[in-house]
Amino acid sequence: MRFRSCQRAITLAIALAVAAYAPVALADDVAALLKRADAIKTSDNRTFQSILTQLDGEHASLTPQQRSYLQYLHAWQLAFSGDFAKAMPAFDAIIDSQQDATVRLRAGVTSVNLLTIASRNLEAYTRLSKVLDVLPQATDPDARAQALGVASMLFSQAGQYELGLSFANKYIAADPTSHGPCKGGALRVLALRQDKSVTLADQDFENTITACENIGEPIYAAITRSQAARYYLDHGRTQDAIAILRQHYEQTQATHYPATTSEVDAVLALAEEKAGDAEQARSYAQRAASEVPKNQSTEAAADAFGVLYRDAKHRGDAVAALDWHEKFAAADKGYLSDVSARALAYQQVHQQVAARKAEIAALNQQNQLLKLKREVDAKSLLAVRLGVALLLVLLGSLGLYALRTRRSQLKFQKLAQRDGLTEIHNRQYFIECAQAELRYCRKSLREASLISFDLDHFKQINDTHGHAAGDVALKAAVAACQKHLRSVDIFGRLGGEEFGILLPDTIPARAADIAEMMRAQIAALQGSDGGPAFAVTASFGIASARAAGYDLTQLLAQADDALYQAKRSGRDRVIAHGTVALVSDGPPPGVPERRHG
Ligand code: GH3
Ligand code: MG
Ligand code: MG
Repeated sequence: MRFRSCQRAITLAIALAVAAYAPVALADDVAALLKRADAIKTSDNRTFQSILTQLDGEHASLTPQQRSYLQYLHAWQLAFSGDFAKAMPAFDAIIDSQQDATVRLRAGVTSVNLLTIASRNLEAYTRLSKVLDVLPQATDPDARAQALGVASMLFSQAGQYELGLSFANKYIAADPTSHGPCKGGALRVLALRQDKSVTLADQDFENTITACENIGEPIYAAITRSQAARYYLDHGRTQDAIAILRQHYEQTQATHYPATTSEVDAVLALAEEKAGDAEQARSYAQRAASEVPKNQSTEAAADAFGVLYRDAKHRGDAVAALDWHEKFAAADKGYLSDVSARALAYQQVHQQVAARKAEIAALNQQNQLLKLKREVDAKSLLAVRLGVALLLVLLGSLGLYALRTRRSQLKFQKLAQRDGLTEIHNRQYFIECAQAELRYCRKSLREASLISFDLDHFKQINDTHGHAAGDVALKAAVAACQKHLRSVDIFGRLGGEEFGILLPDTIPARAADIAEMMRAQIAALQGSDGGPAFAVTASFGIASARAAGYDLTQLLAQADDALYQAKRSGRDRVIAHGTVALVSDGPPPGVPERRHG
């Protein structure tokens, strides 16, 4: 596990890139100010701070998204001024909030970067796991790419090379035309390079270097060259290592980025030492040593000090040798303990997160069970109650792992979604499915209608013929309706003897026709095979997305309204909600009308 200085260089490069990122979809003035502030926060921190103060004054007029952006910039400033104690809770507040996922992701990525630079590993990996939780919700491609990059880096740094590689590949896939092949490529090389079981081709390095040169990223190109050089050194290709670093030496120096220049000089020193050119080795090593950022135990520092120590010893300069050796030992120990601290932190957080996820899964199941129990208690359905009791016993005996197995999940799902008597969707599941279908209809501007119906004088039926006979009538009525439904229609029991049916791609006039057929079929149930021995009727209300829109609550309200009218005007009839009739017939342009029959 080597190459700490490269990793630090990439960490810093990512931190800088994150700092330069700015979202676009904000309202004009404030948006421009926020963007400007974001862009100059490092280069002109004074102006940055005064813009923040100005925006604080206009807080009331900011959109929620702009407010969270401003909150993020404040947290960033706290970190920049060195006040970690205040900055971290500020970032946490943003990450844990219900705000814009992109801002939350940025807050996560920035805090992970800062913690990494400060070697606060446990906190860095804890926040990384939060970043990965937010990642699926964030849509901004830049913020996503930064998060994938940071994840790849941190996993590689913890010795989790496969994870490092997988996130590097995701980064490349997420941004295949600009930064992905360069920055994601550099991270990919970093992960592969440290995995001793992997053989790399020259092409692996060259592709990334070319991609970085194409988009003007000399730092990433230099980091990848130094990776290639280290790989060549490990494989006895000393001259190749020297050649690749010398060829672009001036270009690397021109970045004036100490983490990168010291790394390149240190690798060159190692290579020249191996090649037997003591003078060149010493010169590069001295350069690297002078560039190493103070108090940082990078691998480049250890390498450079090591070359200088061996050189002094070789020349018989015992005093200098002792001096360099002290420095070498401190740097070597420093970065090695840093590396193992990261690995340890990763393991700790990994286990905590796994435990938390198991806990949440168990809690979800418990909630489902409680909900189910309440429903069953209310309905006094003995069969289902027995089923639940059985499941309880099962769960109790099998414990957490049984909870998490697919089979019991499926059993639960079935019980939780279906109405025990009629076997159609229960209320909760009907709402879930109908809402999903309506979202889908809204997207493609498709038609949708809702039928709501309620059996007439059902209390009286129960009172006269008994509850069991009532159940038979309920089942028979549901079966009668099902004959007129397609597989795409969603049929649910909304309450005791109230039902809802969502019909996608169906105009209101057609929904009314279907309801009329159902009404007639129910009215004809008396004495039918498996049907009740007494007369049953139902009243129907129709609503449509044309008038009510695609909101289920609104649709149900309008359908209920019509149903109530049907009840008041004598029952056993179909009434469409008032506004439906006012809307012209026929689907919107391009929408196929549901055919009759
Ligand atoms: P309306 O025509 O105005 O709808 O009169 P209603 O009697 O049908 O109205 P109400 O809502 O007052 O009564 C509904 C009855 O349905 C009361 C309840 O006992 C009965 N019920 C609810 N669920 C079930 C069930 O699962 N089985 C049976 N048999 N009866 C049920
Ligand atoms: Mg009723
Ligand atoms: Mg009722």
